Amino acid sequence: MNKVALITGATRGIGKQIALTLSKEGYNIVLNYRKENEELESLIKEIENSGVECLAVKGDVSIFDDCKNFVNEAIEKFEKIDVLVNNAGITKDMLLARMSKEDFTQVIDVNLVGTFNVTKNVISYMMKARSGRIINISSVVGVSGNAGQTNYSASKAGIIGFTKSLAKEVSSRNILVNAVAPGFIESDMTNILKDEVKEEIAKSIPLKRMGKPEDISKVVKFLASEDSSYITGQVINVDGGMLI
Ligand code: NAP
Repeated sequence: MNKVALITGATRGIGKQIALTLSKEGYNIVLNYRKENEELESLIKEIENSGVECLAVKGDVSIFDDCKNFVNEAIEKFEKIDVLVNNAGITKDMLLARMSKEDFTQVIDVNLVGTFNVTKNVISYMMKARSGRIINISSVVGVSGNAGQTNYSASKAGIIGFTKSLAKEVSSRNILVNAVAPGFIESDMTNILKDEVKEEIAKSIPLKRMGKPEDISKVVKFLASEDSSYITGQVINVDGGMLI
């Protein structure tokens, strides 16, 4: 039977590319989405064209019961989840002096509490199976910090602490937990910036370019595979050298 990968926030950007990359590796895909978008049906078809099954499950990761429901749907269909990729994330950037409490807590609720909500609902199945991979998408700013992103950096640093602690808790059950910390990646999240700003940032990156979603999905593929079976509790920076 094919392995099963659940990816949150998988209809756009990095999450979509992770779903496509893992489908090409032969994983059945559980595609979590929050908002319907017109490309959902064509994405499902594209995934199925790799010869695997795809289940799209609606749910907001910041709502615990949504996560419980979509994890149950996935288990009903596939009976297991081998790989969980906690990818869903948002930004609400503002200097702290002007940031509202709502914008702080909303980012924490989606990025960090969302990671808890989905993982909490998946972990018992992995523990029973005595096998599993959890890959959390953090960010370089969770390591380095960034002006204007106290909410986002705190959420992404929290994901790193969560990753390391859970890796220690579940290592005896052969469940490996790692984080990927992307740098500056082409997606809707970074498309809001003006071209001049993007060019300036790209110039400051040692590899002189923004990353592509594929740069992240290839590392996720590695962390999901047997090739990484002696790696747990790590944060892999995929950032063109930003944090050197
Ligand atoms: P994106 O293009 O904005 O996509 C974000 C995805 O998350 C969308 O599919 C969105 O769904 C989903 N999402 C947001 N809130 C959700 C919720 N409450 N429940 C379920 N899904 C939700 O961003 P991206 O660049 O692909 O980012 C993916 C991950 O990489 C995020 O965790 C982000 O923080 C991280 N990251 C990105 C960069 C970068 O430079 N792009 C750098 C470092 C880390 P909807 O379509 O429904 O909104």
